Amino acid sequence: MKHRTAFPENERRARSRSSQLIHDKPLIVGGLVEMANTCGKPNCKCARGEKHKSWCVSLRHKGKRKMIHIPRACEEEVFEGIKAYQALWEQMGIISETSLERILSSRKGKE
Ligand SMILES: [Zn+2]
Repeated sequence: MKHRTAFPENERRARSRSSQLIHDKPLIVGGLVEMANTCGKPNCKCARGEKHKSWCVSLRHKGKRKMIHIPRACEEEVFEGIKAYQALWEQMGIISETSLERILSSRKGKE
């Protein structure tokens, strides 16, 4: 009894949401890290402790951790890409859970 459309409703939703996320949005597999730096100018506010804040994306590249600075102008788009990745991760969790349940329950009774 194998039907191609026999995915449970929540899994079907998760699969279509996942393909949407992959399709039409930037998708960035990484985490956000806030940086606080000093620029070196003696009269700057950062010399008095009010450091310049900026964001980096932390990601894995060929097995190594890598930090990439995000220019201010790109922040919004990068944030969106990371949010899409987190949303995809959530949907994948649902798909994974129902997939595993299905495999395990189909095995039942065969042994
Ligand atoms: Zn400064």
